[in-house]
This record gives sequence, structure tokens and C-alpha cells, in this order.
Amino acid sequence: MTLRELDDHRVTELDKVGSTLERRLASMEIETVLDVLEHYPRRYHDRTNRAEIAELAVGDEVTVDAEVKRIRSRPMRDRRRTMVEADVYDGTGLLRVVFFNQPYRAGQLPEGTEASFFGRVEMFRGRRQMTNPVVDVLGTLDEKTGRLVPVYPASGKAEVHSWQLSGMAHAALRRTRQRGFADPLDEAWLRELELIDRTSAYWGIHRPETMSDALAARRRLTFDEFLRMQVALVARKRAVEAEHKGIEHLVDGPLVRRFLTGLPFALTTDQERAIADVAADLAKPAPMHRLLQGEVGSGKTVVAVAALLTAVQGGYQGAFMAPTEVLAEQHHLTLSKLLEGLAVADQGSLLGERPVRVELMTNRVTGAERRRVSEGLRDRTVDIVVGTHALLYEGVEFARLGAVVIDEQHRFGVEQRDLLRSKGGDAIDAEAGTATQVDVLVMTATPIPRTAAMLIYGDLDRTELRMLPAGRAPIVTEVVGPSPLERSGVYDRIRTEVQAGRQAYVVCPLVEESDRLQAKAATEEYERLQREELTGLRLGLLHGQMTPGEKEAVMTEFRAGGRDVLVATTVVEVGIDVPNATVMVVEDADRFGLLQLHQLRGRIGRGEHRSYCYLLADPTTPDAEARLTAMVESSDGFDLAERDLEIRGAGEVFGGRQSGWSDLKLGRLPRDEPVVVEARAVAERILRDDPDLSRHGQLREEVEDLLGEQVEFLFKS
Ligand code: ADP
Ligand code: MG
Repeated sequence: MTLRELDDHRVTELDKVGSTLERRLASMEIETVLDVLEHYPRRYHDRTNRAEIAELAVGDEVTVDAEVKRIRSRPMRDRRRTMVEADVYDGTGLLRVVFFNQPYRAGQLPEGTEASFFGRVEMFRGRRQMTNPVVDVLGTLDEKTGRLVPVYPASGKAEVHSWQLSGMAHAALRRTRQRGFADPLDEAWLRELELIDRTSAYWGIHRPETMSDALAARRRLTFDEFLRMQVALVARKRAVEAEHKGIEHLVDGPLVRRFLTGLPFALTTDQERAIADVAADLAKPAPMHRLLQGEVGSGKTVVAVAALLTAVQGGYQGAFMAPTEVLAEQHHLTLSKLLEGLAVADQGSLLGERPVRVELMTNRVTGAERRRVSEGLRDRTVDIVVGTHALLYEGVEFARLGAVVIDEQHRFGVEQRDLLRSKGGDAIDAEAGTATQVDVLVMTATPIPRTAAMLIYGDLDRTELRMLPAGRAPIVTEVVGPSPLERSGVYDRIRTEVQAGRQAYVVCPLVEESDRLQAKAATEEYERLQREELTGLRLGLLHGQMTPGEKEAVMTEFRAGGRDVLVATTVVEVGIDVPNATVMVVEDADRFGLLQLHQLRGRIGRGEHRSYCYLLADPTTPDAEARLTAMVESSDGFDLAERDLEIRGAGEVFGGRQSGWSDLKLGRLPRDEPVVVEARAVAERILRDDPDLSRHGQLREEVEDLLGEQVEFLFKS
């Protein structure tokens, strides 16, 4: 039977599933027989390891498997709460089990119920008892059951018990007994990958005889999950490459050469490699879809500019898109400086060349200035335009757009990337009257662990900039507690640095609810600091409710050294580059995400001076504690990204359950990294030999079901 067939059968077709249970299951998103089979056990309870009641000693922490012989509830002494008392029996002796303030236990454990109880054995009034043990209801004992009892993620709210889910899974398996499960992988693959077949895998995960059965089953089913995803991503990459004709750029030309030799510093080897990767893509007839992942301050801009100039030296135009207006303006400044003195060929001029022309185009560029830039884009006298995404949406016309660099502040999904591609992608050689696909370089400063990137950006080629340019002074990071004494040390440091001519940032607490509240909090903090701790210093204020003009005025002044301390909301998180700033203070740092803290810290340590990052915090959760510790221990973005994945788990990192692409039921990162790598390799081999999956019908069907409708274009040979 195929997974699609199993998905066509409703849960009510299984024995003992009536309309009440159906409703409860629906609230857990279990509606079909396939859903039942894919609701996997969380762990297994090993009945061979149980302790016998007769042998329990006080102080033991044990699991007891026993039947409830008697149970009753009674009010506690305060008359408001309830206690539930049960006597349980395992054939060797009786044990008293007591639950305080858990009245539902009486309903959960009616007499005759078989359950496991995990807890510490105590003595009370001369009797052994367990108080508030962990309970797994196992249903009535079934002789055929193996010694391993699966424990399912049951939903207390939905009142569906683990033993019911187990029974349903068993019933579902019995329905498949005649035909078995259709397997998308043939014998040869299974042997090579040392995987068990799918029929054994579904039986093994729900009804294992031994723990090694269960593990082999988990490995197989996890592999299937990742394989479906990787087949989708690899197919998508191939489809994009095959479908569009790209520009064969002139990579070996004088303009890029002069730019690179004219830089005031030597490139890092990572930068050299990245520039070579990009050049190779640009030279190819297929369009580039590359992700440039680089640590904050790793020097991505140079790589981006080299890409844009490659387009320019072949007679094309380049566009550089930034996530915000402030950043667009900053990038425009940077690019203008980097390109000073460079020239392109120009037939119309006496010298046969003219300076490379870089312009800015955002919503703030209006009137005559806007007309001037638009004109230049249309008549190809503007070589490079820097702007926000608005560049693509607002009917801005290019004469001959050849390359686009997108500087992304946060990772984005496959779906959004499609949008960008469709908006910016139809290039546009108005003069030649042909439509080719522009080359796209996506840059992100959010480090993503390699395997997670394989899931999120699996359809892009990737280059990483891991090393920082030499000569950066290290950043000292400290967690600062709530006491006034500790805090005053931070403000002393700000004063010392300002006296030495340096500058500082103070980032205000995150207010989730609204931009407006956040702006208000920042304004109040700005006024307070001005009045109290930082009185006498020149403070600036930056928040999201200011107009773009106001923001830019503040940034310009700060950049020029006209303000000592910038009090800001998280708007400074991304891309701001003021090498003279050496202090970063983050208030309520325990409320920020790990990578967000890393981005904030990336605002300092950009020049040759030693820098200081202070995380003001009074962490109340273990996760917050772990994030702060990670910040103190590590300054490597990729390392922090790995830790973030460990702290939060993959589901969170992907931003909840997105449709299809990253929906994992069994797979977990980073635990299953090797499986992802293996699945990727297998997906590539399968699609190389069978691009439209005509010989892998089963696999194709499963990928289609994973992705829904978006899939048609993927499998064209
Ligand atoms: P990011 O990757 O964060 O965008 P940038 O491209 O803004 O980094 O570079 C950060 C700073 O490092 C800039 O001031 C840039 O001029 C400088 N820089 C870039 N590459 C090098 C290098 N190889 N050696 C020294 N400084 C460099
Ligand atoms: Mg940058």
C-alpha cells in the first residue's frame, strides 16, 4: 500500500474509533490512517526493566508496572484541592500511590488499568508509597505485546491516551498486512544504505520486539523524511537551472581587476574563494542562484561589488538590494567610496570612458532626483543602483539588468525566494529584445548550521565566509547582573571609551507587542540615561517609529562622531557599520534570541580598537541562561548557530511548521545531520539518472504529496 492510499482512509475505518474519538484525534491533527501511522512513539517503555513491588526500598527511584486495584479521591485538608489515592498491584505486592492536586487521575486510572509509575519510594505512616509519580497508561496487558511498550505523544487536553494511539497504530498495521507497504527504495538502495524495508520499518517503530528494531525503524523512516525533502530541493534546483537561459558574463575584464587590486587591504582566502565561485557562476550560461553566508564583518560587500562590476564590465547593469532604507543609504555610501576612480568604456566620450555611476533609489528618493535616476537606468548611464526591495516592485525599468545582489537581514523561505525571483528575475535586455534570467546572489549574515542550510537553502549553491579579516581586536563579552554596582561598571566603561574618542550603543529591551511601545520604551530610556547615568554625554536616539529622514539624520550624525552614545531599539541589529563604536550594551539581554544577540554584538569590534559587549540580564529560564553562556563562550557565528539549534530545536529555528519543505515528524537536527547528508547525496544520484522520476513513481508521488500543488514544474526531463 502506498502512503497516498493510506491517507485516503479515515481513522473511523479503524476498529473502536467512534465519533467522539474521531473528534479528539482531529484536534491532534490525526484524521487519516496515514496520520495514525505517522504519529510516532516518543519513546519506549521497557517492561523487562521494571522493579518488583515486593523488593522496593525507601529512596529507590524506580519504574513499577502494575494494575490499579483500588482508587479514590478525597478533599485535602484545605477543602479546596483534591488528593487521589490508589493501591496498585504487580503480582508481588501492593504499593500506595498518591497524587496531590491532580483530580483527573481518578478518571485516568480506573480500577483494572495497567500503567507504569515512575517515582521515588517513600515511607509514610509505616507504608511504602510514591507521591506524584510520572504515569504512562499502558492499557490492559496483551500477551502478544512485546516487552517494549511504545509511549506516544498523547494529548492530555484531547483526552487521547497513549495506549489508544498504540492500539490504533496496531489496527492500522494489521490493515496493511496483506499487501505490505510500497517502498520507494529498491533492494539495491536498501542494501547500499543499510536500511530496512518500509514494511518492517512501520512495524518496527510501532511494535518493536527489541530496542534495536525500534532504532532501525527510526533510521529508515527518518531517512525517508529527509529524502523526500532533498529530492524536492534538488529537483527544484535542476528545474530552475534547466528552464531559464542566463547571461554569460565577461568575468575576465579590466574593471573587476582594477577594483580588486585597488583595495586598501588584502582579501582573505575566504573572500578570494567566494569571488572565484561567483565568477564561475556568472561565466556559465545558466543563471546564478548562490547564497553567500558570512559572519558579521567578514567582508561580504567586496564579494557583492565584484559580482556587480562583472555585470557592468560586460555592458550590463547591477542592482544591490538592502532590507531597509537606512541600510540602502549606507550601502550606497560604501559602494560610492569603493568605486571611486573606476571607469567604464563609453563611446560617446572623448576619453572613451566615463566613471562608474552608482545611484540610490528608495522611497525617499523623489521628484527630480528620482526622475534623474530612472532616466539613467533606462538609458544605461547608471551602472549600479542601490535600493530597497521596492526597486523591484515599483515599475523601475532597467535597460539591461544583469546581476542582482540581495542583502537579506533574515533567512527567508523557498516561497519568498520564488517571489523575488519572479519579480526581479525576468531580465530584461530591452535593447536586444531578449529575456534572460538575471544572476542572483543572496547574502545573509545569519549563520546557519550546514545541515540546516541544506534544508532551508537546499536549492541554492552556497559559499561561506568564515574567517574575519586580520587585525580585528577581540570583543570582551560579559553578562552583567541586576545590582546597581554591577550596572555602574558598565556606565563607567562607556565614559572611559567616550573620553578616548570612541562611541557606544545602548540597545533597549525587546517589546514584543508593538513597535510603538518599543519606541516609547527607548525614548524613556534615552531620557533617563541623559538625566542620570550618562549625563553630560551626547546621546542620540533611534527607533522604528521615526521617519526614514529622521533615522538617517541620526545615523549620519553618529557615524560622523557627532554623538557619543546611540540609544536604540533593535533597528541597529543589521548591517550598521561604525568602526569607531566599541561598546555595545544590551538591556534585558535574556529576552533576545541568541543569533539576534550575535548580530547586535557584530555592530562593534569592526575597527582596530578593543571592544566591549555587556549583556544586562537576570535570566530566569535555563534556555536564557544557555544563550547568555553561549555568547560569552563563543564569538563564532556558525558555532553559535549550532548551539542555537541545540537550545531551540529545529522546529523553532525553521519558524514553526511551514508547509511541506521543512515539516519534520521524526527527524531532528542537529542529531540527524548524517542522515541529511546521506539523503542529499542519494537525491542527487537518483535525479541524475532519472530526472523526471519516471522510474521512481512511488518517490515522485510522495514528493508531490509533500509539496502540494507547487510541484509540476519540478520534474520535467
Ligand atoms: P559584512 O560581511 O558584515 O557585510 P563588510 O563587507 O561590511 O562585512 O565588511 C566589514 C568591514 O571590513 C568593512 O569596513 C570592510 O571595508 C572591511 N574589510 C572587508 N574585507 C577586508 C579584508 N580582507 N581585510 C581588511 N578589512 C576588510
Ligand atoms: Mg554587510
